Amino acid sequence: MFKTIEDHVRQQVAPAALRAEFRQHEFDVSRRFCQLIFCVSIVVWLVFDLIVSYIGGQGFTWLSGLFLALMGSLTVVLGFTRHSHHFDVLNLLFITVITLGMRLVIEGIPIALRPVWLALGTSTVLYSVSVLPVRRWSFFCAMAITWAMLNPFYDTNIDLDDLEAAMVLSYAIFLSGLVIYSYLRLRQTKLHNYYMSKMLLEQAYVDVLTDIPNRRSFMLKAERQLKAAAPGQYLAMIDIDNFKKVNDRFGHDVGDEVLKRVAVHIRAAMAGQEFARLGGEEFAVIFQGLDQPAAEQQVSDLCQRVREDTGEHPVTISIGLAHINDDDTLTMALIKADQALYEAKHTGKDRYVLWSSRLASES
Ligand code: GH3
Ligand code: MG
Ligand code: MG
Repeated sequence: MFKTIEDHVRQQVAPAALRAEFRQHEFDVSRRFCQLIFCVSIVVWLVFDLIVSYIGGQGFTWLSGLFLALMGSLTVVLGFTRHSHHFDVLNLLFITVITLGMRLVIEGIPIALRPVWLALGTSTVLYSVSVLPVRRWSFFCAMAITWAMLNPFYDTNIDLDDLEAAMVLSYAIFLSGLVIYSYLRLRQTKLHNYYMSKMLLEQAYVDVLTDIPNRRSFMLKAERQLKAAAPGQYLAMIDIDNFKKVNDRFGHDVGDEVLKRVAVHIRAAMAGQEFARLGGEEFAVIFQGLDQPAAEQQVSDLCQRVREDTGEHPVTISIGLAHINDDDTLTMALIKADQALYEAKHTGKDRYVLWSSRLASES
């Protein structure tokens, strides 16, 4: 089952909207990780700067302070960054500053050692960028900036046609290829996983036939809404009248069409409220912020809407409406609405009944 869905997802091209949503989601979940990478980078840079400044004799100048201030400010800005596309730019700024800072530190070590340290610096930066939630253009720009700033052939003593040059060049090509491959591969895998979990969640919480929320979704949301104890909460249980006859007379497919049509009416009439298909030909709605006349008006309008639908195979619905008291659990509210629905069915159908304590004592 999992394999089938996985294969299906792999064959799909994720739509642009989903990609954008994925990128934002990626950034949201890894913002702290990005901050950690920024902080660790600053600390590592500072340690090397101090070593070269004091042991290497370069001296700790105002430039070091300036780089620290710039990188620190960018890290603070990251703390306030909420959009993934802003991070794409911010990360490029950070990379520009830190690679320039690295270049200046490396300028303070003996010229013969520079190519190796420039290559080491490049590999560290590129590896870090490859695991950050950045878009492709931003990743490739970061790569270009890093190689430009930490170019091991610039301001070093490498002779372009000697052995060291060939080795450094081979390493640069190998490193770039590896980092590009792992970045693209990682992004693709994460996108697939995101796509798949979204699909599975949708399947778990949406009714396949009517495309409205299902029982599982309703129970979760209703529990949450009840806990919030907002004023004016009502629960409505909706049941199609004589639905078995529709199935028996016209077949199951027509029955399915009727179910879909009723769901469309519920969706249109109950916009802004939580509604769902509980199963079979039963639906439920949970209202919030309504007084009794308004709640009654809503369910009465829904009955009328379904009754006046001029489509083929007309049906009617019955509704049980119950006010949810502060101390009611969801189960208690469902029982009340069910009792009211039972009353609606037994007093002629195609109507709503508001629950009262009389109905509880009768059942
Ligand atoms: P009442 O007016 O008292 O509600 O009578 P009813 O015929 O609507 O109620 P009953 O519970 O006897 O019948 C419900 C029927 O709904 C029985 C079942 O075959 C049918 N049903 C349940 N789920 C589906 C479905 O997904 N599609 C179709 N077409 N029928 C369904
Ligand atoms: Mg029923
Ligand atoms: Mg029914």
